[in-house]
Amino acid sequence: MPEKLSEEMYRTLEAVRRNYEEIMETIARAAEASGRRPEDITFLAATKTVPPAVINYAIGLGLRHIGENKVQELLSKYDEYQLTDCDLQFIGHLQTNKVRQIIGKVSMIQSVDSLRLAQEIAKQSAKQNLTTDILIEVNIGREENKSGVMAESLEELLAAIAALDHIKVRGLMAIPPICDKKSDVFKFFDQMQQLFIDISAKTLDNVNMDFLSMGMSDDFAEAITSGANMVRIGSRLFGARIYR
Ligand SMILES: *Cc1c(COP(=O)(O)O)cnc(C)c1O
Repeated sequence: MPEKLSEEMYRTLEAVRRNYEEIMETIARAAEASGRRPEDITFLAATKTVPPAVINYAIGLGLRHIGENKVQELLSKYDEYQLTDCDLQFIGHLQTNKVRQIIGKVSMIQSVDSLRLAQEIAKQSAKQNLTTDILIEVNIGREENKSGVMAESLEELLAAIAALDHIKVRGLMAIPPICDKKSDVFKFFDQMQQLFIDISAKTLDNVNMDFLSMGMSDDFAEAITSGANMVRIGSRLFGARIYR
């Protein structure tokens, strides 16, 4: 633990340490309950609003994946992340005109839902002579005004993106609707798992179904039970977000 911390910072870091351990235990139990190993599940911390000092502390505890959801915030914190043992991903809605600013900085973009966005990622990646991994975001709850491709359009989008160079599809991501009953969320998780299985079985060229990214603070154990192998956890690790 770094020296000369304020009382408040000390308490924050202590809480993050406890939360981290509890999350790791919950992930391990959920993995084993569904016949997998704890290390088969990727724990990504959603770091929006979290100061770099706190993020870096969590990396020191063993956190290996972080994700930001706003380009501006990612860029403002970028020089301070300690990324030697940790990879940085983009998990939020991405506007095409901002793609250029994050290519080369993030290892994966989890929120691709249109060919136009994929084309821009491919174009900017080509300029830097690299390949960017992506997940396709599915609008599993069919919500209006929400990001993500509709399930019935997924295959067509996958085929179009797979034809592009400098971009590689690594799986699917979803943010199910907010439901009053938890059992309603499970229905969406199960639908995602079925989509993931169906697409995997088709073995499309240049498409790898490595990751099924779903489950957040309130439901990551259930998501793992429904087949998620990547969970994105924010407030359960860092505490409730304070928007300043
Ligand atoms: C904030 C965020 C999360 C994590 O949300 P919590 O409820 O705080 O765990 C996951 N995914 C995305 C895309 C996010 O923006």
